[in-house]
Amino acid sequence: MDTGGSSLPSGPDGVKRKVSYFYDPEVGNYYYGQGHPMKPHRIRMTHALLAHYGLLHQMQVLKPFPSRDRDLCKFHADDYVAFLRGITPETQQDHMKALKRFNVGEDCPVFDGLYSFCQTYAGGSVGGAVKLNHRLCDIAINWAGGLHHAKKCEASGFCYVNDIVLAILELLKQHERVLYVDIDIHHGDGVEEAFYTTDRVMTVSFHKFGDYFPGTGDIRDIGYGKGKYYSLNVPLDDGIDDDSYQFLFKPIMAKVMEVFQPGAVVLQCGADSLSGDRLGCFNLSIKGHAECVRFMRSFNVPLLLLGGGGYTIRNVARCWCYETGVAIGVEVDDKMPQHEYYEYFGPDYTLHVAPSNMENKNSRQLVENIKVKSLQNLSRLPHAPSVPFYERPPDTELPEEDDDYDRKEERLESDHLNLDTEMGELKHSNEVIWYPDRKSIPSIQNIRPKKAIGEAELKDENQDDRKEVVENVRCMDIETEENLGSKSSEPVLVETDQPRSNITEP
Ligand SMILES: [Zn+2]
Repeated sequence: MDTGGSSLPSGPDGVKRKVSYFYDPEVGNYYYGQGHPMKPHRIRMTHALLAHYGLLHQMQVLKPFPSRDRDLCKFHADDYVAFLRGITPETQQDHMKALKRFNVGEDCPVFDGLYSFCQTYAGGSVGGAVKLNHRLCDIAINWAGGLHHAKKCEASGFCYVNDIVLAILELLKQHERVLYVDIDIHHGDGVEEAFYTTDRVMTVSFHKFGDYFPGTGDIRDIGYGKGKYYSLNVPLDDGIDDDSYQFLFKPIMAKVMEVFQPGAVVLQCGADSLSGDRLGCFNLSIKGHAECVRFMRSFNVPLLLLGGGGYTIRNVARCWCYETGVAIGVEVDDKMPQHEYYEYFGPDYTLHVAPSNMENKNSRQLVENIKVKSLQNLSRLPHAPSVPFYERPPDTELPEEDDDYDRKEERLESDHLNLDTEMGELKHSNEVIWYPDRKSIPSIQNIRPKKAIGEAELKDENQDDRKEVVENVRCMDIETEENLGSKSSEPVLVETDQPRSNITEP
């Protein structure tokens, strides 16, 4: 099939791909707090598996350069970034108004090193985009990224800055069209919202729909203005298995690739859609999840693989390790090698785990209907819209050599910022014209073309109550063995799998 994708440096449909993998050995030390399901430690567990399976030697391993304030402000509001930079667990009680305004405190707690955590995971995703733009790799991976819920001036669902939006903005410097695909169990609302009114970014999200965080992602939310039909939502129900998922994913994504012809693809690989997730309710196996990676990789278009949700952390590590193998083009052994987190994987110590026998609430009729409706929406897209492409903006620049000094300066400035400044007083230094200000477009509720759905509206007869079906980047090569992270330095307990009732995310 001619997808119009750019051919890769490694040649057309070669079995191998040149992969750049971003990892910061510090990332596993960030800690959201006791009982919080989001555990950056899972990134370090993934890395340890990659090391002991011998996969690090088959990729370029890079430590991301941390995003600076001005990099984050390409999407986020200046005052929100200043707030994230300045807030600490010790000072947060003095900033109650700002905490509320920016939705920081509960699901998105203030913790030690919060801002450098944001800089690190954003730096990996943007660094991956720069590598892809320079054709220095075919696939870039940042498992610490994929925090798809963060908004321009608000934290949401364990996400503070939206590394995905930042990476897509970087890719748009080089590519006319960028495709975003989201297989987290939660709707990729932050990314969809950022690009809701443009035809240069198409967003496709497969997610659990209904009374489920974040509550958006209706099949009728299709984009607005020039972006109409460039948002595609595929709402699913509990217990979806590999077969039903791929029954939808492959034809829909094949059609998207054919009509949109993106120059680059960003795939958010949230692992909370796996069977047995602490917060999720789908029933995908690791191979079923990874089939999405394999399929998107087969189009030979520059690919950025990002992490996302995933709360049964042993399975997250399994999944992202296996998917790294898929990216490289090697099949990883099921038998797990001995390594420092080996005891997490008992009693079987295998990479793959069987899905459960939970009921699949997605009837054949339901998935048929969703497929038909999604393909209908896609048929309304003009083939590969040509967009005016102005002079290419420069890459996200590098700090001067003395970047520590640079950051200290910025920190000093932040000390004088009034965190409680009313929103709107500070102007947002956003040069990106295709990013809509949320306030400038009607709410998604109001612009949903309910009338236009008519007969085509989907209905599951058995579930009437249900809503309608619903280099410039500077990176350091990491020595692979020494930097596996030391287990003793981190405060994370072995996952108990006990659900935490007051958590709403993802
Ligand atoms: Zn999620």
